Amino acid sequence: MKITKLFLPIALTLAATVTTQAQDVNKLKELLQQAQSEVELLESMPKVKPQPVTSVSTGNGTIALDTLATENDAVKVVLFNDNSWRYIRVRSAEDWEVDTYAKHWDTIKLFPYEDVKLADLPETVVIELVDSLKGYHYPIKGTVRSKFGPRGRRRHRGVDIPLKTGDPIYATFSGKVRISTYNKGGYGNLVVIRHDNGLETWHGHLDQSFVKPNDTVYAGQIIGLGGNTGRSTGPHLHYEIRYFGQTFDPERLVNFENGNLRRETFLLKKDYFDIHSRAGVQDFEDEILGDEEIEEQKKKEEAAKKVYHKIRSGDTLGGLAVKYGTTVTAICRLNGISSKTTLRIGRSLRVR
Ligand SMILES: [Zn+2]
Repeated sequence: MKITKLFLPIALTLAATVTTQAQDVNKLKELLQQAQSEVELLESMPKVKPQPVTSVSTGNGTIALDTLATENDAVKVVLFNDNSWRYIRVRSAEDWEVDTYAKHWDTIKLFPYEDVKLADLPETVVIELVDSLKGYHYPIKGTVRSKFGPRGRRRHRGVDIPLKTGDPIYATFSGKVRISTYNKGGYGNLVVIRHDNGLETWHGHLDQSFVKPNDTVYAGQIIGLGGNTGRSTGPHLHYEIRYFGQTFDPERLVNFENGNLRRETFLLKKDYFDIHSRAGVQDFEDEILGDEEIEEQKKKEEAAKKVYHKIRSGDTLGGLAVKYGTTVTAICRLNGISSKTTLRIGRSLRVR
């Protein structure tokens, strides 16, 4: 079926043989014959119409014939009809997460993810914030004056960082500008950038914007100047990070004090979208557990579930089974006793 897969090993063997100056001519002839018969075999097989890989455009007329998996799920090899190949990144195996810039792309509407309900989002999602192809730059450095969280009856869906009007605001990651407009709802001059990693960053109260919708931006590009437009008392940047329209505390990712990115791979949990869920020191240690830690945690959780009962006068195994919603057999198994064992008053029996 896959022509390239069959032919590639032979081609590679041939190349290796030729580069060792064809010491064994007979071997080479044999290989050539083998290759020839492979080609004949292939030609006799029904032809498979090449399926272009939609995410790859070479721009020089070559057609992608096939994609091969690698050991890394996030990387695939694409083989082209001119015998060239290249690695491509697979952003995610999840259908709803691909097409970052194709789906829910709206340069007018502030909230284009209306049809994506919170319930549809996964409990956790791993987001690769940066890699060798994608950089990071702090949006601005400074002390967070107002944090993510409830603010009286309102909800503060971002962080506020005071600045001097005219201070540069940088794109946090590479991406594409979705919104650049004056927002009457309170944001003032607002720039929304959607990033390759699927996150959106929102920048409010800007004095000026240097970008327009559909502009491609790189991490660290100055997208505008900080200011005091919209519902703002004093120059500051209102900065939000959203995932499929849902906000979470930007301090989970950015240390605004020193400008550093707190992590390269982010385990985004659904709980974080809760307005009361703030970045805390403890989060950063236990977010991604190792296998051993997970095992340990499971044991702890199991242990926490154990229920004991202190035998009192009149208790029977059958009665306890009913009381704790279990069976006599289960209680016997947990305690290594038989159903005929006499229950001594005062003894603790594990019932779950
Ligand atoms: Zn704010």
